[in-house]
This record gives sequence, structure tokens and C-alpha cells, in this order.
Amino acid sequence: MKDDILNLSIQELDTLLLDWGEPRYRSRQVFEWIYTRLVTEFSQMTNLPAALRGRLTEEFEICRPKVLETLKSKTDGASKHLVQLHDGNLVESVLIPAKKRLTLCISTQVGCRFGCKFCASGANGFTRNLSAGEILAQVLLAQRAVSPGRITHIVLMGMGEPADNLANTLKAIKAMNNDAVFNIGWRRITLSTVGLPDTIGRIIDQVPQVGLSFSLHAPNDDLRSKLVPANRTFPVASIVKAAKDYFEATGRLPTFEYILFDGINSESEHARALVSLLRSVRCKVNLIPFNRTPHSDFAAPTAKSVQLFLRTLEEAGMKATIRHSRGGDIAAACGQLASKK
Ligand code: SAH
Repeated sequence: MKDDILNLSIQELDTLLLDWGEPRYRSRQVFEWIYTRLVTEFSQMTNLPAALRGRLTEEFEICRPKVLETLKSKTDGASKHLVQLHDGNLVESVLIPAKKRLTLCISTQVGCRFGCKFCASGANGFTRNLSAGEILAQVLLAQRAVSPGRITHIVLMGMGEPADNLANTLKAIKAMNNDAVFNIGWRRITLSTVGLPDTIGRIIDQVPQVGLSFSLHAPNDDLRSKLVPANRTFPVASIVKAAKDYFEATGRLPTFEYILFDGINSESEHARALVSLLRSVRCKVNLIPFNRTPHSDFAAPTAKSVQLFLRTLEEAGMKATIRHSRGGDIAAACGQLASKK
């Protein structure tokens, strides 16, 4: 089967084309056709010699993943792409327009190994990692859909655990940032992780200015282990340590994501415990009222409880915000991504 040219970095394509006897500027020309002019066939690359177009067509495809279905939210402008991979597996990406930004939320795996109790993506277990090209393809497909608009921000908060597919995820992130690809600033890319401490060093080394969010969701190990089974292997203290390392190495504030569940982790005692846990950490907290998914019995607290929780953090001097999920009517809100097909 032909490889997807989206799996190649510009340096890799450069090496290949030099090997084919092409001049240095060719790889940049090809990338410009794919990522700026958004063509779908090598035959459309009219400033390339015909023989080269032919050879590229024989060896590569451009973006093997395809959009199977697009769902647009009637209430808030979010839209979801159901993306079909070459082997029939499905992943989802979500476009979230806001005043001055257009954010794309992308997936890194088909399914997920971690089985967080509240999350739809892991409900059917793990199928496979996405290749770097398949991660990048979600951005290309969305960019084609919004052109001439531009995707300005990327969040790796869709299906899967990016740190569990780190090499491919980092390769895709570097491509998104590359000026011959989408030229999206490091700081406009955010990776969300359940917190695999071993991977944080590699993230800090390779993409230090990328935003890092840790899915904390509880102020202590007892509670977190009930929600996030991975906590038994990577407990709260190791996540907090990883967040401190990130701040020390990069100077950027890590974010702790904290889903609020009614009757579980949203009482004032939990807010106070969170304050004392994070007292010595330079960070932000992102509170996420739970989004109901079909397979779980969790519920979100009332808006009043959410505000109360926020106020407790703020009064203790913490930086905290509430994330209002979008695309609820198309099952595109945080943690709702799971393919029913
Ligand atoms: N595996 C990564 C990234 C994917 S999930 C991680 O764990 O961070 C992105 C965020 O959405 C995580 O914070 C996750 O815990 C949260 N999330 C999952 N299901 C949710 C739901 N039903 N409601 C609200 N947030 C949810």
C-alpha cells in the first residue's frame, strides 16, 4: 500500500527528493501545495516536472484519512468531523470557533488504554495508535474545510492519550508548528495528559513551549484512583512533581484540569484540599463541569456549586477558570468522543 506523504517531515521529504536527484527547493514546493494551497493530487502541482509528479503519485497518497461525516452544532458553532482512517477505524476532531480564534481539538489514538471512569473514549478499550500523518491529517482536513479561514489553536484533547503515543504525537506537533506546514505557534498548541511522568521530560526537551494540561480531577489519591485508574501507577504526587518540573524548565504555567462531578469531588472540602495540594505549585486550574455521556452515571454539579468551587480557589489566590464545553448537541463536548459506528 502507498504511504501517506503526511507521515514525512519536510526534512525527510528533502532527503528523499535529493536522493531522486531533485533540487533542494522541491520539498518546500511540495509542502506548499499540500498545506497552503491544499491540493489533493500530485497532478495539481503544476510547477513540478511531470516525471516527478508521476513518481510521487506512484509512491504516495496525500492525506489518506477522509472526512466521513461533518456534524454542526445548532447552538454554539462547534463542528465535528468523523474521520475515517485507511483501515476503517474512526476518530473525531472538533472545531471550536471563538471571537478571535479557531481551535481544533484532535485525537491521538483509536480508543484509549486508560479507562477513566467518566470518559467515553476509553469505554471500548484501546485499538491502536495514530501515525504522525493521521494526527496531522485531522488538521489538514479541518483546514481544508475552513479555508480561507485559518485554524489558530490546537488542543490535543480528543480521543486517546497523547503521552501514550508520544513519538507520533511529537512529530505531528512539530509539523503543525513548521513554517512550511501550518506555522501554528508553539504556545497555541496544548497537550492534555492523564500524567505519565516518564514522558514529561521528553515533552519538555522537544517542545518546551507547548502548553501542558494535567487531568487531575481529584485532590487526593483515594478519590483520583476511583476516577482515573492510572492513578494507582502514577499517583497525585507524581503529577504535581511533573507539573513543577515543567514550570521550572519552561517558565510556562502548567494547567490542572479538574472535572466537577456532583456529589463526588465538588464540595467545598474538595476545593480546600485542592488549594492545599497546589499551594506550592505555580499553575492554573481549569474547572470543567462534567459532560454527561451515555454510559456513565456521573452528573455535573449545579452552576451555583461550580461558582462556589471557583471562588474558593480564587480567594486562596489561585488562577482558575471554568471551561464551558461546546458542541454538546453533536456529542462533541469534552470526553464525549467515541465512535458509535
Ligand atoms: N487523555 C488525555 C486527553 C484526552 S481527554 C487526558 O486525559 O488528558 C481531554 C480532557 O477531557 C481530559 O481532562 C479529560 O479528563 C476530560 N474529559 C473526559 N471525559 C469528560 C467528560 N465526560 N466531561 C468533561 N470532561 C471530560
